[in-house]
Amino acid sequence: MAPMPVHLYGLTLEQMQEWLTADMQQPAYRAKQIYHWLYQRRVEDVTAMSDLPAFLRAELVAATRLATLREVTRQVSKLDGTTKFLFALEDGATIETVIMRHDYGISVCVSTQVGCKMGCKFCASTLGGLIRHLTAGEIVEQLLVAQRMLDAEGLRVSSVVLMGSGEPLENYDPSMAFIDIVTDAEGLGIGQRHITVSTVGLVPAIYRLADERRGITLAVSLHAADDETRSRMMPINKAYNIARLLEACHYYYEKTSRRISFEYALIAGHNDSRDQARALADLLKGLPCHVNLIPVNYVPERNLERTSANQIRAFAKELNDLGTPATVRREMGGDIAAACGQLRAEHAAIKAGS
Ligand code: SAH
Repeated sequence: MAPMPVHLYGLTLEQMQEWLTADMQQPAYRAKQIYHWLYQRRVEDVTAMSDLPAFLRAELVAATRLATLREVTRQVSKLDGTTKFLFALEDGATIETVIMRHDYGISVCVSTQVGCKMGCKFCASTLGGLIRHLTAGEIVEQLLVAQRMLDAEGLRVSSVVLMGSGEPLENYDPSMAFIDIVTDAEGLGIGQRHITVSTVGLVPAIYRLADERRGITLAVSLHAADDETRSRMMPINKAYNIARLLEACHYYYEKTSRRISFEYALIAGHNDSRDQARALADLLKGLPCHVNLIPVNYVPERNLERTSANQIRAFAKELNDLGTPATVRREMGGDIAAACGQLRAEHAAIKAGS
């Protein structure tokens, strides 16, 4: 059987050098040339790589593949230009990617898994369980499609959040390879500081990440300051409770000097009282961090109501008054199905119904 063509977008520069020298009998410097074509010129076809010898281009056509994502739909918000893509992978599974335009730049939110098995009670991505992990190349492609769309406007992606469907720290190696690929100076050159990995709180993986001393931001989905409330919302809390999670966060800060970002989705009557704000401030005392308050996105299957705008402001004020920096995340793309997993869920429902 012929070997499976190599997905070029999935190779770090080092892996590409190894592959070119070992398998293709090429000098290592070809890897940089290919990286320039893939990530700086952003061509979609190896035959366009005009400084490679013709025989090598022909060999690459036979031995590699490039685009594997197919755009199924795209929604663009009339309010703020937020763009949400639904992509089909080679096996037909679908994933979402979102481009958000902020005043400080453009961020892209990528998915790291098809579905998710973490079971958070407010989340749409986990409704059908985990289908599979994404490969590094599939994560890279999401970003490249977004960047190509922005190229037409002369704009660049300034930050990347691994906050789409899936748990990046459960799909650890591909997620880190993705980061290596998109931060490489020979490629897209996105700064480590402009990358945020969001986790449900997989404690052992947080220690591993801390020990690697990457310059990225760690975002932790906390959502509650006491174990009873958090376990009700997030099953993972039964495996790694808040005390263990916070210990890991302190360790992360000690090793990296990077302030931790905590996500806290406010759900009416569940985690939004004044006492809960105080408990949160208490919990985070002494840890350099920032709390992102998110009005929970409505998910039809979940039927949870968001806290009122007034109460969200009061919650933020309470935290800030107690010395815990907190801001309310501005809602993006309110007129499109922008909550994680919703476009995919809608698409699946339409397919099932037709
Ligand atoms: N698995 C990772 C990353 C994906 S979820 C994690 O849990 O962090 C990205 C963020 O969206 C998490 O903070 C998650 O808790 C939050 N989220 C999921 N569903 C949401 C909803 N309906 N409303 C608001 N935030 C939600």
